[in-house]
Amino acid sequence: MKVYISSDIEGVTNVTNWDETELYHDAHEAAKKQMTREVVAACRGAIAAGATEIFVKDAHDSARNIIAEELPEEVTLIRGWTGSPESMMAGLDETFDAVIYIGYHSGANYDGNPLAHTMNTQNNYFRINGKDAAEFDMNTYVAACHGVPAVFLSGDEQLCEHAKELVPSIETVGVKYGVGGATFNMNADKACRLIEAGVEAGLKKREECRIEEPETYDVEISFKEPAKAYRACFFPGVYSVDARTVSYTAEDALEMMTVKMFIL
Ligand SMILES: [Zn+2]
Repeated sequence: MKVYISSDIEGVTNVTNWDETELYHDAHEAAKKQMTREVVAACRGAIAAGATEIFVKDAHDSARNIIAEELPEEVTLIRGWTGSPESMMAGLDETFDAVIYIGYHSGANYDGNPLAHTMNTQNNYFRINGKDAAEFDMNTYVAACHGVPAVFLSGDEQLCEHAKELVPSIETVGVKYGVGGATFNMNADKACRLIEAGVEAGLKKREECRIEEPETYDVEISFKEPAKAYRACFFPGVYSVDARTVSYTAEDALEMMTVKMFIL
């Protein structure tokens, strides 16, 4: 079995402030250690379920957070950014059996995590077919377009609930919740233990986690700055809705991600 793990940091337990997510900041040390521990726990769960090949995408910021030497032999670690539209899912293709998300966070326009955002902090929302999307949504559509089910997610509790709306059978572990600017965090060892068990459980029911791709992707983006909306509406197929808002329709997930890559 071949498994793809996409890992972010804002949904890792105890991570609360932006400075903890920044490479070279002193506060990043603890965050990258726990991000690594949660990814290693996911790898253990995957191996227990029969995974023989695991690709791990470090998918936060510079994509150089995970401590490589901590990962098991089965892992190929993807650091940095390919520049392809799959973004946090770079390298995923139809040869994979399942996708796992670690350290994921609520999207823009949600309040379940003080670090909630969708792809960057310059938009108020990224809406797909009428629903405010998190990175989880776009990445799960990318996976679906390659025929790969998303079977497990760990991150903030609000995102876990959100994820089940798209993939009802997905296994989740909510390691924290946000109240205003604060986070209420699960013990780090317990989080790892639950992630390991949850990944194994999710992989065992991966066939139940398959979803149908929508016919089209009707996207609406609200930018914080009107200037960004003005610039975006010059991209072919992107239309101005109002001073801050643009829309476009994509035929498949990769087209949705390609347009996003150039305008967001
Ligand atoms: Zn991130």
